Amino acid sequence: MLPEGEGANALGIAFGLLGDEWTLLLLRHSVLGAKRYSDFSAALPISYAVLTARLDLLVREQLMEKVVYQQHPVRAEYVLTEKGRGVWPILAAIWGWERRWVPEHTYDTPPMRHRVCGAEFTPRYSCRACGEAVTAHDLVATWGPSGGWQRSTPESRTRRRSQSRERAAKAFYPDTMAVFGNRWSSAVVGAAFMGVSRFTDFQSLLGAPPSLLADRLASLCEREILHQVKLADRPDWAEYKLTPKGIDFFPVIGVTLEWAESWYRAEEGPVLRWKHRACRQEFHGVLTCDQCTQPLTGHEIQLEPAAD
Ligand SMILES: [Zn+2]
Ligand SMILES: [Zn+2]
Repeated sequence: MLPEGEGANALGIAFGLLGDEWTLLLLRHSVLGAKRYSDFSAALPISYAVLTARLDLLVREQLMEKVVYQQHPVRAEYVLTEKGRGVWPILAAIWGWERRWVPEHTYDTPPMRHRVCGAEFTPRYSCRACGEAVTAHDLVATWGPSGGWQRSTPESRTRRRSQSRERAAKAFYPDTMAVFGNRWSSAVVGAAFMGVSRFTDFQSLLGAPPSLLADRLASLCEREILHQVKLADRPDWAEYKLTPKGIDFFPVIGVTLEWAESWYRAEEGPVLRWKHRACRQEFHGVLTCDQCTQPLTGHEIQLEPAAD
């Protein structure tokens, strides 16, 4: 256990909160206009208990506000707060990645149209300073004052029992959830982006139990987010490297970190500091339209046709 004040940093808190399929799906429907309890329950195969628990969590974490619009009987709407509306880049980045890498969907990822240029587009992760599109390889990351492996490992916000019981019934974002939906998975993927590749290094840096770590690595390989690279001189050894699909997940992590830093920033400073190699400026990410290259805003994105 970590001493008081040394708990999860912004990254650990955000991944702990959003690393839950129901939470992401409720936010997605909310962004698309769902407000009432019945809107959510009609759109998702979610049980009463889980829906209530997730909406309560989203209200407690101030992503939604519960607005009572009728007293007898009491009826309420769940309205996104500024903080809740701020998750749209995370959802858009997930949407883009799933469209590119997960051809067989069990749910709809309708095309998105940019109202400004009128084109069907894919969000592109770009440098706010120079406007160029970036990948993880274009950036250099160093820990900031609130960084460190342990503090960046997500805190679980939901009870595991209810998660596993519901899992079979849903799997809307199976690949995203392979990274996001488990605290050790997201920590492993984060560490892989920082250059960690050996089992023993994942284990010692993250403090992950070996059996859980092995399980997470296997599932990330199965989803082709990581792959094993055998070493020529040590045939009994393997290193874990990100695949192109895994590397392309970086925008999701990047926009999640930006959101996390704007709402959970530690007094001592950020989790990570980034530098864009090409322009040599401090890196801050922004989603842009791949058609007109303009920065995107949430209300300029149109989903069509809204199949759900
Ligand atoms: Zn730049
Ligand atoms: Zn555009």
